[in-house]
Amino acid sequence: MAGNSEPLSPRAKLAVTAGKAAAAVSRAAGKGSGSVIGGKVALRFDPDLLARLARHLDVVLVSATNGKTTTTRLIAEALRAGGPVVSNALGANMPAGITSALAGGSEARFGVIEVDEKYLAGVARDVSPKAIALLNLSRDQLDRAAETRMLAEKWREGLAGTDAIVIANADDPLITWAASSSPTVVWVAAGQAWKDDAWSCPSCGGVLQRPADDWFCGECGFRRPMPTWGMVNDHVVDPHGVAWPIQLQLPGRANRSNAAMSAAVAAAFGVDPKVALERMSHVQAVAGRYDVVVYQQRQLRLLLAKNPAGWLETFSLIDGPPTPVVLSVNARGADGTDTSWLWDVDYTRLAGHPVMVLGDRKLDLAVRLEVAGVQFQVCSSLSEAVSASPPGRIEVIANYTAFQDLRRTVGN
Ligand SMILES: [Zn+2]
Repeated sequence: MAGNSEPLSPRAKLAVTAGKAAAAVSRAAGKGSGSVIGGKVALRFDPDLLARLARHLDVVLVSATNGKTTTTRLIAEALRAGGPVVSNALGANMPAGITSALAGGSEARFGVIEVDEKYLAGVARDVSPKAIALLNLSRDQLDRAAETRMLAEKWREGLAGTDAIVIANADDPLITWAASSSPTVVWVAAGQAWKDDAWSCPSCGGVLQRPADDWFCGECGFRRPMPTWGMVNDHVVDPHGVAWPIQLQLPGRANRSNAAMSAAVAAAFGVDPKVALERMSHVQAVAGRYDVVVYQQRQLRLLLAKNPAGWLETFSLIDGPPTPVVLSVNARGADGTDTSWLWDVDYTRLAGHPVMVLGDRKLDLAVRLEVAGVQFQVCSSLSEAVSASPPGRIEVIANYTAFQDLRRTVGN
């Protein structure tokens, strides 16, 4: 099914051309890569364009609250063992951005596509994926717990009867609930560090029991399915019981979990875990995340954390005191304007670190740290924060638009 089956219709070709023209105009106007505006224009010319572009591809969709951009990248690396890949690598993960990415990949065999949680069911209908990877669901900075439950319900309805192989994290009760309407599910024991959004049964609302490495509802019997893929120490265990070492340059438990999910996805596309994991080991940074950059003669590691679960994962990556930590929080557009989620994060983990705070909402953050009893210094710029940091590599943690600001400042 590779590459060049049936050519695009004249209408679809026109739509792609119009989209490329719009993207070029947007770039010329200095408005980023133009991929989203290009996709919007193209979809207006041909509303079925996404389905047409996906028709000749073996597609995997990747969705989650956290880790979808990184996992998309890991899967793309693994599948390149089997042929050319097209992917929305920069994280434009709504229909227009996905359309634009696929329009640039006419020679590809595989489509590896990150999808925003709210669009998963619709995109899955449009592109008839071969596989769908579901990693985790927790409250986003914009959503509270009830909305997370509604999202799981929407996935559950949208995926009922799908032809895709669903590869799902059995350790996340909401993911299990969402995936279990699908006829074919490959369960992966990929772990769950953030449990605060998973104490009530998604099926009946009862209290979940959570003994080590297991969960179940005492009221209705909904329980953790038996996984066929697992993680033991730093190894992925495949369905034959063979353990393969995970050797990543990307740090932390969350990324090992992303690699385990990616190995299971790669296997569904016929790529051997050994080959898949070896290829994943070459990924150094994903859209600037985890990158170590030099700024003012100091090493800075850039870490993105968008929501409470993301901050928890990020804190687990930073070296112990006296490593300096810079925190930057904005509340614009993609961040959500309400910063009350700051109160869901346990900042006492930063005790003992020199902490510098930045960003549009540095004062909200300062109040939060004061209450947590963490010492900090409020700074007006990254330059000032770096100057105030004692020696050693500086860990810089930022939410979405603050992270983009930092990348521009350090020229990355
Ligand atoms: Zn229940």
